[in-house]
Amino acid sequence: MAGSETPMMKQYFDLKKEAGDCLLFYRMGDFFELFFHDAKTAAGILDIALTTRGESDGEPVPMCGVPVHSAEGYLARLIKHGCRVAIAEQVETPEEAKERARAEGRPVSKALVKRDIVRFVTAGTLTEEALLEPRRANMLAAVCELRGMCGIASCDISTGAMVLEECAPERMPAVLARIGATETVAPDGWDDAPFDAVIRPRGDFASDDGEARLKAVHGVATLDGFGQFSRAMLAAAGGLVGYLDHAGRGSLPLLLPPTARNSGEHMAMDEATRASLEILVSQQGGRQGSLIAAIDRCVTGGGARQLADDLAAPLADEAAIDARLALVGFLLADPLMRADIRALLRSLPDIGRALGRLVAGRGSPRDLGQIRDGLTEARRLHEALASQPDRPALLDDLLPVLRGHGELTDLLSRALVPSPPTERQNGGYIANGYDAALDELREVSGNARRAIAAMEARYREQTDTPSLKIRHNGVLGYFIEVPSKHADKLMAANSGFTHRQTMANAVRFNSVSLHEEASRIAEAGGHALAAEDAHFEDMCERIGARREAIAATAAALARLDVAAGQAERASDGEWCRPTIVAEPVLDIHAGRHPVVEAALAAGKERFVANDCSLSPDDRLWLVGGPNMGGKSTFLRQNALIVLMAQAGGYVPARSATVGLVDQLFSRVGASDNLARGRSTFMVEMVETAAILSQAGERSFVILDEVGRGTSTYDGLALAWAVAEAIHETNRARCLFATHYHEMARLADSCDALSLHHVRAKEYKGDLVLLHELAEGAADRSYGLAVAKLAGVPAPVLKRARSVLNKLEKGRAETGGLAAGLGELPLFAAAIEAEEEQCDTLRDRLNETDVDALSPREALDLLYELKREA
Ligand code: ADP
Repeated sequence: MAGSETPMMKQYFDLKKEAGDCLLFYRMGDFFELFFHDAKTAAGILDIALTTRGESDGEPVPMCGVPVHSAEGYLARLIKHGCRVAIAEQVETPEEAKERARAEGRPVSKALVKRDIVRFVTAGTLTEEALLEPRRANMLAAVCELRGMCGIASCDISTGAMVLEECAPERMPAVLARIGATETVAPDGWDDAPFDAVIRPRGDFASDDGEARLKAVHGVATLDGFGQFSRAMLAAAGGLVGYLDHAGRGSLPLLLPPTARNSGEHMAMDEATRASLEILVSQQGGRQGSLIAAIDRCVTGGGARQLADDLAAPLADEAAIDARLALVGFLLADPLMRADIRALLRSLPDIGRALGRLVAGRGSPRDLGQIRDGLTEARRLHEALASQPDRPALLDDLLPVLRGHGELTDLLSRALVPSPPTERQNGGYIANGYDAALDELREVSGNARRAIAAMEARYREQTDTPSLKIRHNGVLGYFIEVPSKHADKLMAANSGFTHRQTMANAVRFNSVSLHEEASRIAEAGGHALAAEDAHFEDMCERIGARREAIAATAAALARLDVAAGQAERASDGEWCRPTIVAEPVLDIHAGRHPVVEAALAAGKERFVANDCSLSPDDRLWLVGGPNMGGKSTFLRQNALIVLMAQAGGYVPARSATVGLVDQLFSRVGASDNLARGRSTFMVEMVETAAILSQAGERSFVILDEVGRGTSTYDGLALAWAVAEAIHETNRARCLFATHYHEMARLADSCDALSLHHVRAKEYKGDLVLLHELAEGAADRSYGLAVAKLAGVPAPVLKRARSVLNKLEKGRAETGGLAAGLGELPLFAAAIEAEEEQCDTLRDRLNETDVDALSPREALDLLYELKREA
């Protein structure tokens, strides 16, 4: 970047303008260079040297660069940090640039190589194997609002799977939480766009354009064959395809026909519930300690991704859940068959992603080999399974999809070498015997190579120089090399050798016959490469033509892997097959928490299994008992069992009957939940409000210490009112953990509410937590005993004991925290009384003719109303 108005700088600024807020990787020879602010950002993230080059407006221009051959690793780090990158490549050679300058009458010395942005690399549009995690889908989502509905399109670019859905605007965060996209795009000028969305032109999100784009991508006249899509869904699809088109600069990645996901198909969970149940990531932010880590026994990346999807979107349809369970049961029943199938699956390459790369035009010969091997193995799996008796229905659906690629696999098997390379440019991946012309070219270069080897022996003899070598490098091609001290013989005028280069210790020569043979190799090699390239394109095309069938095979393999993994897990942990019923019950015998159990097992401790039994007559359990007693664990294990069951898997219990749950809610009292900007108590109340407004009779709610985030009186009052409201109004199945003893009195007024506690004992002055659930209210809180257990020093405990004695004395005299609770009217009666009073006030106001009142009369009326309120 020399001088302020150089053509290069102008080119840079033009490209940067096009790149917008993406970092611009500007290709210069073997490097991608970054300048100005981009350079500072990238150097900081990548921890590479920041230098300067030339100046702009009298200031040195900051610059940093990464070598092209290792750019992928740097890209990965930038993307992880939330950056997006525009890649500007040189689209002509320096010779072509000079030629152009000459033709346009410009000075050749100043000819500038033309550069274009060839691609945008963003978190949601990656396909490179090195940049993706094998066991996690990489989702891109597009959202928009149309006539009061939110349309959401999501896609895993690495496999092309695309889903369209719509929801009420207030449910959008929950849907986006389920999808868990690494990148979300939204239209310009939309106030409710997700805060971290990439903003795109509004025009991309037009529903008729979206429909037209989908039809064009899939070459169909109507989308009816794929499903029913609303206008909002199509608008979002338009935004998604538009963005992909932009990111790929006009070349689209693999996109499979969209499927419509209807909100009723799945058990709904909002973002807070997902976070609190630690389904795919733990509270620490990683996979370790999450539910999926405790379940996942999949042996393929595709299976692991499918399992994550199953757990993120459990089903809400009895028949569909039973179909999955039957397949798990089938694979559980025969351990030998399961082992065989898992061994076959384990050797499978990730064909879903290989297909994605090939269709996106970024595939390699290795990807072709993966498709060949994957489809061949799929056929073997078909053979292994088709002979099994008593196959469940889901397996019969999957079987036909596992085969049918015979023609393609035959071709690939004939065409490719056993393990094709990841690089395409050096050739060598087409097998001998596939193409006679190619074989001939290889023969020619083989002969020439042999001729060169023979030549080396001949020259050694002829010059009497045993250390003479014929070598090859990228610059000179083939040459003859001898140590300097032997060079004289070859330098002689009539030796037949021509001098090419003198090195420190050696001298290099050429000869006419060597040149001839070398040209033969080069020519044949060039033709051979071109022939291999043509075969590569041909195979890509054939694979592309079968993309949907191959993707369906990949999906079937993933589904089999999930079921086999679930069976394996069930067999290891003695899990049971849940019974799914329509009635709002939850009957779990000897249930366990898979994550806590695994953590305890690592320390050789035993998990205490507990029962849970909810039904319309006994649908709200208040769970009391000391801190650390196991209340949260009990609540969560039951929520997780519901989730795992509806995802179609076995569950950690001796037996489980799960009445279908339409919405699952999990809330944890404020102090367990680290702040996210808002005050913790505020977060707790916002989330509780969401439950009270959304939960219904088919929902399942767990509430852990709600009200803990505020003062004792406020907390008890809120917990009381929330429990009452869930009991009376929402009527959901609910487990409610609380350390307020006073809440036990709710059992007097709420007939479908019962009291339970986690047991604890004091033994020789020490607290023993039994982690065992029992009926009835907790007898005491054991707070001091827990403090002792935690190692609070003896003098502090002693002091606390005397403060407690004082407080308890006061409580005995005044009735304490619970004084007056006995006189509370019932929840329904209280609400009714308040509503009646409102009605009276409303009637009085309606009767009043305000214009006829004097100021004095108005004031009197106000006082009167206030007294009545
Ligand atoms: P609480 O919510 O009552 O404070 P937690 O559910 O957080 O208690 O449990 C505290 C600890 O007790 C857990 O981390 C676990 O180690 C242990 N624990 C909980 N439930 C059980 C159980 N059923 N069996 C064995 N240990 C348990």
